[in-house]
Amino acid sequence: MNSNSKIIVSQSSPAKINLLGYDLAHMKAFFAEIGEKPFRAVQVLKWIHQFGVDDFAQMTNVSQALRNKLADIAQIRAPEIIMEQKANDGTIKWLMRLDGGNSIETVYIPEDNRGTLCVSSQVGCALDCGFCSTAKQGFNRNLSSAEIIAQLWIANRTLHQFEANNEESTTAKKVQDSKRRIITNVVLMGMGEPLLNFDNVVEAIHLMLEDHAYGLSKRRVTISTAGVVPALKRLREECDVSLAISLHAPNDQIRDQIVPLNKKYPIKELLEACRFYFSGDTKKKQFTIEYVMLAGINDSEKNARELAALLKKLPCKINLIPFNPFPDSEFECSKLQTINRFKDILYKAGYVAVVRKTRGDDIDAACGQLAGKVKDKSRRLNPGIQP
Ligand code: SAH
Repeated sequence: MNSNSKIIVSQSSPAKINLLGYDLAHMKAFFAEIGEKPFRAVQVLKWIHQFGVDDFAQMTNVSQALRNKLADIAQIRAPEIIMEQKANDGTIKWLMRLDGGNSIETVYIPEDNRGTLCVSSQVGCALDCGFCSTAKQGFNRNLSSAEIIAQLWIANRTLHQFEANNEESTTAKKVQDSKRRIITNVVLMGMGEPLLNFDNVVEAIHLMLEDHAYGLSKRRVTISTAGVVPALKRLREECDVSLAISLHAPNDQIRDQIVPLNKKYPIKELLEACRFYFSGDTKKKQFTIEYVMLAGINDSEKNARELAALLKKLPCKINLIPFNPFPDSEFECSKLQTINRFKDILYKAGYVAVVRKTRGDDIDAACGQLAGKVKDKSRRLNPGIQP
């Protein structure tokens, strides 16, 4: 723990229904079941997600009798924050403890014109990509929708508090700040493969997009996936948010080695699914191809030309991610010169290619470094894996 770390511990009561992860439809069903009107769902969603309230007693536009009833049967419960670290560049990483003793990590990345929250979707990961630290932990379980949205709920509460506690803030500024969006974008790029936890991820995304909750636009919520092809098709039907595809290789031979899921859903099928995802909708402009730069593995000039040919006519931009090392990783990051040459080849072939800035590296908050603490049940990728 560094000097910027602090520990906050909250109480829990597992027997009651946890309303934190309920989207509007689910919340309406809950109120119908307890004999209450549907508008209660909107009121309670607003209290939870827009005002960060976790105590029914504070929901002042709800009758006292209903508040008492809710307190008897339900709760709003997020994981405990067990560590909070702030990096020199303003990046914040939270370590959260879940029921059962595992933990997950969430990262907030401030930039000049936006604030991005990087959210985890599973405890560990089953995909076993060789260059990823989460994969080395093995897989334990899916996060519930409450545990996924809790990451945004906690970050939102904490960040608004930071601003409110700033003594230089005037009261007027504090009110203004409480309305201002600090988190403008969410990326499901933390621990886990979001499309292998489909239902819970989609319910949490409904809350991110819901006007009575966080009200983010679809363009500002991004699912990053190693390419679970059938789930991409479902996602298009259910909530067609922005996409980032972890391609990392220009051909199946290389991809089979570094992203084992490729053996099940090879590149051709994956890119077809991406094309389909964008078909028939002119509003969705493009998706992101993620490409981790691994020295001597996928970073040659020939690889760059191959990648340019592979992605021809696809509406995408390319994010080159310098490999972030972690203990016992068997890979090395490509040299800066090699990365720039790779980028230039793509650029000359007509692509928008950018080198992703590594953020929060003094607190191990960069891509692929999120580890949490996972009781490894060693359920690695196997042929029977289902979205
Ligand atoms: N399972 C999802 C989310 C994973 S993490 C997916 O595969 O997309 C988000 C991104 O970080 C992915 O592109 C992943 O491949 C990349 N990544 C993982 N480990 C990394 C590392 N050590 N250095 C750089 N990028 C890494």
